[in-house]
Amino acid sequence: MNFHVLTLFPDMIINGLNESITGRAIKNGIISVNAVDIREYSQNKHKKVDDYPYGGGAGMVMQAQPIYDAYADLTKKNGIVNPRVIYVTPQGHTFNQGMAKEFAKEDNLIFLCGHYEGVDERVLEEIVTDYVSIGDYVLTGGELPAMVMIDTISRLVKGVLNNEESAQTETFSNNLLEYPQYTRPEEFRGKKVPEVLLSGHHGNIEKWRLEKSLERTRKYRPDLLEK
Ligand code: SAM
Repeated sequence: MNFHVLTLFPDMIINGLNESITGRAIKNGIISVNAVDIREYSQNKHKKVDDYPYGGGAGMVMQAQPIYDAYADLTKKNGIVNPRVIYVTPQGHTFNQGMAKEFAKEDNLIFLCGHYEGVDERVLEEIVTDYVSIGDYVLTGGELPAMVMIDTISRLVKGVLNNEESAQTETFSNNLLEYPQYTRPEEFRGKKVPEVLLSGHHGNIEKWRLEKSLERTRKYRPDLLEK
């Protein structure tokens, strides 16, 4: 699976994803992350990529040309035809595990990270296929949202997680929050690990876990149960 990110801050993407599990997946060649610096495609002698909004108002808007040229060069160089291009934006559909599963089916995904007041609408109309938000709040730029999505999608790519099972039983996989987890020691500050988990009885453990999942979901995310 190849992730491509159109960004003004390529180091942020590369440094962020080169760590931990995504870093290991990159090293093992299971995923690749290609951060394209939009500024390299500016035709301005000062490498400017933004300008004042038509109609006035606060802030600056990212210009269409450098983004379009970065996209055209990226798709041409990599032989990518009709890619899914995700503009990360607070105005998009809210990202969730189901979307991540859909995106994980693609060979290539292109992310466009906005900055300042956003991006000239015309280039969005030209290249974007999906408008996706990570939640109802506004960040300074699209790099963190793109990393959140890449991390989530990567975990669903075969071979990225050591234990394939963990992505199947965890929170959101079946509209339930995951049950509580415990590890050694058996007692911590007077609190004991629930007896059933030490029993070795798989049937009872499964039953207990399902009950706990339901209990948690009812308490914290009753909206999931309605689904
Ligand atoms: N003026 C824009 C608006 O009101 O919709 C917000 C621009 S925001 C300051 C700059 C960039 O950060 C956006 O273009 C987008 O790429 C990214 N961004 C901010 N919040 C986001 C969120 N919740 N989800 C995804 N991307 C976000």
